Amino acid sequence: MPALAKIAEFLDDALNIANIPDYSNAVNGVQLANLGEIERIATAVDFSSETVTGAIDAGARLLIVHHGMFWGGVQPITAHRHQRLWSLITHDVAVYSAHLPLDIHPELGNNALLAKHLGLSPSGGFFKYQTINVGLTGESDVPTRVLAEKAGDLAAEFRGTLVTTPFADDRVTRRWGVCTGSGADSASLKEAAQRGIDTLIVGEGPHHTSVEARELGIVVLYAGHYATETIGVRALGDLLTRTFGLPSTFIDAPSGL
Ligand SMILES: [Zn+2]
Repeated sequence: MPALAKIAEFLDDALNIANIPDYSNAVNGVQLANLGEIERIATAVDFSSETVTGAIDAGARLLIVHHGMFWGGVQPITAHRHQRLWSLITHDVAVYSAHLPLDIHPELGNNALLAKHLGLSPSGGFFKYQTINVGLTGESDVPTRVLAEKAGDLAAEFRGTLVTTPFADDRVTRRWGVCTGSGADSASLKEAAQRGIDTLIVGEGPHHTSVEARELGIVVLYAGHYATETIGVRALGDLLTRTFGLPSTFIDAPSGL
């Protein structure tokens, strides 16, 4: 059975952790070490008391998440934060997090896999962040209604609900953009308009994005921050199962968003 260092080295390399910029709270890579070998892993979208308990109950020695231990910024290690850290250490469970490196990965990434789920083939990147494009874009000739049905299926699978800006039943999507998580904001809409994107598929966005989108003639499909980011961590779990023979458990803990 591999130790954490071996799995971490493999993941760091596969996800190109060292070279992908990210928000300072992302802290990509190993966030909490452990001592023993890893016989089972767990994956989850969010680091939380629920996913920590789920990982321990599943017998995992490594919890892999998309939004990690430091996502909420520097806070005292008290109350639930102390409890979950204590639980992890006493059960010898490590934590590994991958945020934007997982969003943008061409095979394992949330964006690539969401596009695939929607039956869309990307032709390039979209939504610039520093040196990378976080999202994907491509051409299509598919009724927007069909994309909405597929996005709605994904949302429902994780107990969410698809929300869309209004569109006509016979509307056709000619150029799309996909950006999972909080992919709708003024900047992404501006870039979408510049690129001629007529349909934007995201996890979530503030209310003003739906108003701005209508002004720009863009339809936005909000499939849920949580649902759209379940895909990457599950793919990572499958990859580790294939590579190291490690059983993997996805801890489903919907956030409601
Ligand atoms: Zn996210």
